Amino acid sequence: TLAVKYAVRRRQFEASPGTGEQLLLDYGLHQRRLLPLLARTYALHFAQDAVRGQLHAVFSGDDDSPQERRRLESRAAGMKALGTWHATRTVQECREACGGAGYLAVNRFAALKADSDVFTTFEGDNHVLLQLVAKGLLTDHAGEFEDLDQLGTVRYVTGLAVETVMERTSAHKLLERVRDLLPGGDEWDREAGLLDPRYQLAMLRFREEHMLGGLARRLKAGVDGGRGPGAVFSSVQDHVIALAHAHVERLVLESFVHAVEALPEGGNKAALKLLCDLHALSTIEVDRAWFMEHGRLTVQRSKAISREVNDLCRRVRPLAVDLVDAWRVPPQLLRAPDLLG
Ligand SMILES: Cc1cc2nc3c(=O)[nH]c(=O)nc-3n(C[C@H](O)[C@H](O)[C@H](O)COP(=O)(O)OP(=O)(O)OC[C@H]3O[C@@H](n4cnc5c(N)ncnc54)[C@H](O)[C@@H]3O)c2cc1C
Repeated sequence: TLAVKYAVRRRQFEASPGTGEQLLLDYGLHQRRLLPLLARTYALHFAQDAVRGQLHAVFSGDDDSPQERRRLESRAAGMKALGTWHATRTVQECREACGGAGYLAVNRFAALKADSDVFTTFEGDNHVLLQLVAKGLLTDHAGEFEDLDQLGTVRYVTGLAVETVMERTSAHKLLERVRDLLPGGDEWDREAGLLDPRYQLAMLRFREEHMLGGLARRLKAGVDGGRGPGAVFSSVQDHVIALAHAHVERLVLESFVHAVEALPEGGNKAALKLLCDLHALSTIEVDRAWFMEHGRLTVQRSKAISREVNDLCRRVRPLAVDLVDAWRVPPQLLRAPDLLG
């Protein structure tokens, strides 16, 4: 809120002669820095709301079972990790986006940073929590879940046929189906369908399922090759974290897409659809190297995604103040006189 409001007050440099100094938020770079973070904040809000619904379902007894409790624990752990990393990154970006004024103690970014920073560690270090998420995915939250430490998880997974894990994944079929739905059908390289949530979700599901299958195969190959489960797990921990990340990103986007779909037609729906597209495409853009490595993005389509993110930023720009006002952060919590004026 502070950074967006500052960016619609503060003018710096003439963009073209005789036009006067330009507002910060009219610079493409400033939009790129702030607006995907704004979209992600909304995305995480809806995803957190889904956790709240799940919490209610379990603890009201509407949908309670040991497996549902494990799913809830895993989802809360994943959300905590992504939410707290987002918070600390956003505070830093906003601090810098306010320049020297952002550095002044009176404008409180330093205090906000100090407060939010530690959330990445306490109540469970984020990387450790993401390992819990991956354990749930590998074992499908099996009955033995609580008793499984890292080594037990490796033994459990390698005791299953890798096909059992793969059975839960059908990413290729999913992408084929979406390809059929797109205008232009088999012309996968064209820009068509970038704003179709079915395409966006299929990309994130493909990534998650491919990573899950790949991780199960790596664990099994390591143990079959005669290495100890501990050494095998340690050597694939980067894949473990990547899988958990991909899983939570998919849940976050699903929550956002469902929330937009549930809204009645109108201005709010149109605004949130823009934000949802911005969130989805900037999430894919961040990991475009992975999608290209795995044959799911051509160079042309990857560039089309970056162009679309820029375009969405321009379209969200006029709504930015309304979108931060919608949070209704109480004035006593904002208290940054130099930034708000
Ligand atoms: C300000 C603050 C307040 C706190 N308040 C409370 C409180 O009120 N009550 C309470 O019970 N606790 C509290 N804690 C403790 C907090 O929950 C722990 O600090 C946190 O869970 C991390 O554990 P640790 O400090 O032992 O880190 P460590 O486990 O030593 O982790 C250090 C680093 O090693 C990495 N690491 C650890 N294990 C692995 C592994 N298996 N594989 C790969 N990497 C690994 C971690 O990712 C982390 O980056 C607080 C901590 C802080 C900083």
